Amino acid sequence: MHSHKRPRISSGLAVLLGAALWFAGCTRDNVSAGGDGAAGGDEPAGTPATTSEHASEPDADLLKMVAALPRAMPQALRDRVQAEPERFRALVEAVLDQPEEFTWLVDKQHALPSDYEPDDLVSLSDYPALVINRSDLRLRSLVIDPLLQMTAAAAREGITLDISSTYRSYDYQAALFQRNVDSLGREQAERESARAGTSQHQLGTTVDFGSITPAFAATAASGWLAENAWRFGFSLSYPDGYEAITGYMYESWHYRYVGLPATELERAFFGGIQQWMLLFLHTLLSAERP
Ligand SMILES: [Zn+2]
Repeated sequence: MHSHKRPRISSGLAVLLGAALWFAGCTRDNVSAGGDGAAGGDEPAGTPATTSEHASEPDADLLKMVAALPRAMPQALRDRVQAEPERFRALVEAVLDQPEEFTWLVDKQHALPSDYEPDDLVSLSDYPALVINRSDLRLRSLVIDPLLQMTAAAAREGITLDISSTYRSYDYQAALFQRNVDSLGREQAERESARAGTSQHQLGTTVDFGSITPAFAATAASGWLAENAWRFGFSLSYPDGYEAITGYMYESWHYRYVGLPATELERAFFGGIQQWMLLFLHTLLSAERP
């Protein structure tokens, strides 16, 4: 059904590297990474699930996926892929079946074109169930249903998710960044805001909740989102302690819709770090291009 989207063998080097990484992983005892509760020192052969996975040789698609894992990603996360390769492959394929913009890598090194604007933006004012802090907020129509569902689920637990910022055009970003440079200086402006084209908000799938300040982290809404947003396909883009990887300080209020298969993939195999997953997908898809 979706085989046309699967990564093809286009780079012999990537496959060889994947094979090397794969078999290096298989020689270690990584049974405990499977989370099956087996004692750490057991022989892999003593665990049926692991035996069957390792018994058959991984095919080229899987090797290519392994080769695309970010070099800097911790070994503990690579080990999870080794432990559950078929689940990993299934989730990656489900992510690749979504609109590709859901998981485009957009960061300080990977900017969107100045003319990129989603063609299905809708006004949040048209949805009375959403609590909005200004009248000019827009998101892609594809994101509305998950956002409504998440808002309703939070409301059932007495939590209000108020929406403060959504789609930002390239021109708006350019003006905002210049204002921050003027008031904060260039260095601090780089930490707190994005140069035009490098903001996830240009995708039309990203939402800032509440105060858009560090104080939001202490609110009930922030706690609820941290625990539950993934169930609705929303991912925290800039978690605490990952500025060196994401390029941004902790933003407890900033969530990007990446879709449910992607939040599952992110949690199961990328330690809940969106940036690792987006880097992986970027590398995987780049390798496919001639
Ligand atoms: Zn934001």
